[in-house]
Amino acid sequence: MHDIKIAGALIVDGTGEKERRAEILISDGDIVQITGHPTTEGARRVIEGDGLVACPGFIDLHSHSDFALFAHPAAESKVHQGVTLEVTGNCGMAPYPLSDRHQDDLFEYLGGRSDALPWNWTDLDGYLQSLAEREIAVNTAPLAAHGSLRLAVMGFADREPSSSELQEMRSLLRKDLAAGAFGLSTGLIYAPGVYAGADEISSLAEEVARSGGFYATHIRGETEVLLDAVEEALAVGEASGIPVHISHLKAAGRSMWGKSEEVLQRMESARQAGLDVSGDVYPYRAGSTKLLALLPPRLLEQGVDGLVERLGSDDERRRIQHEIREGSPGWWNPVGAAGGWDAVMVTSVRSPENSRYVGMRVTEIAQSKGCSPLDAACDLLVQERGAVGMIIFMMHEDDIRTFLTGKNVAVGSDGSATAPGPALTHPRSYGTFPRILARYVRKEQLLDLPEAVHRMTGLPAERLGLKGRGFLCEEHAADIVLFSPDEVEDTATYESPHSYPRGIEHVLVNGVSVIDGGHHTGVLPGKVLRRTRK
Ligand SMILES: [Zn+2]
Repeated sequence: MHDIKIAGALIVDGTGEKERRAEILISDGDIVQITGHPTTEGARRVIEGDGLVACPGFIDLHSHSDFALFAHPAAESKVHQGVTLEVTGNCGMAPYPLSDRHQDDLFEYLGGRSDALPWNWTDLDGYLQSLAEREIAVNTAPLAAHGSLRLAVMGFADREPSSSELQEMRSLLRKDLAAGAFGLSTGLIYAPGVYAGADEISSLAEEVARSGGFYATHIRGETEVLLDAVEEALAVGEASGIPVHISHLKAAGRSMWGKSEEVLQRMESARQAGLDVSGDVYPYRAGSTKLLALLPPRLLEQGVDGLVERLGSDDERRRIQHEIREGSPGWWNPVGAAGGWDAVMVTSVRSPENSRYVGMRVTEIAQSKGCSPLDAACDLLVQERGAVGMIIFMMHEDDIRTFLTGKNVAVGSDGSATAPGPALTHPRSYGTFPRILARYVRKEQLLDLPEAVHRMTGLPAERLGLKGRGFLCEEHAADIVLFSPDEVEDTATYESPHSYPRGIEHVLVNGVSVIDGGHHTGVLPGKVLRRTRK
């Protein structure tokens, strides 16, 4: 007697092969049989899949759920999309390691010392144990995060590491990798990642080369410096031999629209030269990050106290205004690139008195206060000690389409597990994967269904080097989504993001039903995955 039989569904197995009709038998969390002939084998539960597609659970290569899973262990916004595995530690940010010297810097880096986290760890190993004890609905796979490693050793210092500091970073990274990190991520627009030069990253990449794993990077710029930033990322792989993965591919800012082709061509020529290169993309025109990321990174070199002091000064504000208007060498200026502060919408603040600004464009906030947009942004950052979230509209739909069809480009949301609440969030946290199926498969036919599913399952599994997940095949874990190809649709919008998609009927995680008939069952069968060394 098996646990579950899925009957009558069209199977899309994650390899990119075309759909076929088959039955799936599941026992003890694994797929034990897939057969094209209806079986008489019994199962405690039969899921009728008529009219539905069954495919592997979606793997979100680019999640920021590291902290969110403690607050939202049921991972509602993700699992309702069909996501069964969250890759965390992206963009150089992770809540580990914790060092005695620079613990407060880490809290500031992560937007405050979240009370949802128990903080009962000092390293990745402890973090993963704590997450496993919390119990979560989805599987997770962690990356080591360069920004957090650098902070643990050097705080927000804007300089090269000394050789002993570099050795210390390498040894902390070795520990992360030994604990099961699947690779190393960087966030080279954020302080302190932005202070790191090529030598530092290459040195860390050597550690990854030793243990296996890949290099995932939020590159140094996605506007004017985009192509140089892509070169820099590829060079890390060329020097160290490790696979390079470019996170949330985009050509941001009007002057860069149309550059997606060039980015893909550059990735292709690196591939031709023998580099294993891939990327991920989310299907939205707006990005989202900290409001602080819109200002020159030098502002953070004395930590958050220094930032608050500087942003309070009129001289400093005049200097920033000049830099935004004229640009400054080597700095990614997103406000100018996006066409001004009107493209920026505030999505989160910490203090209740500023919550009235959530959902407003920075220009609207400025108008309501009778000040300039820069003053409005700086005032808010001072009051919130840097912890302000925002959405910025800066990409072109054609570039999204180009990236979505690029070789080895997976889908990654860049969003977090969350659940309906008062704070705004980017709709990608609720809609990414169904949006691919609705918009780019059914409506635009940009991708055929098996190809789209491959980019959300098999391809990311291969990037991770995951064994036993990412494909519908026997002996794989039963991470499975059943959706209606005619009805699947994202419903989350910028104005109203907390909205679950339609048409995702069943989601199994490790053979346990988490979404059943479109509803969350509340069970938490997710596993904390660790990379096994090569
Ligand atoms: Zn990023």
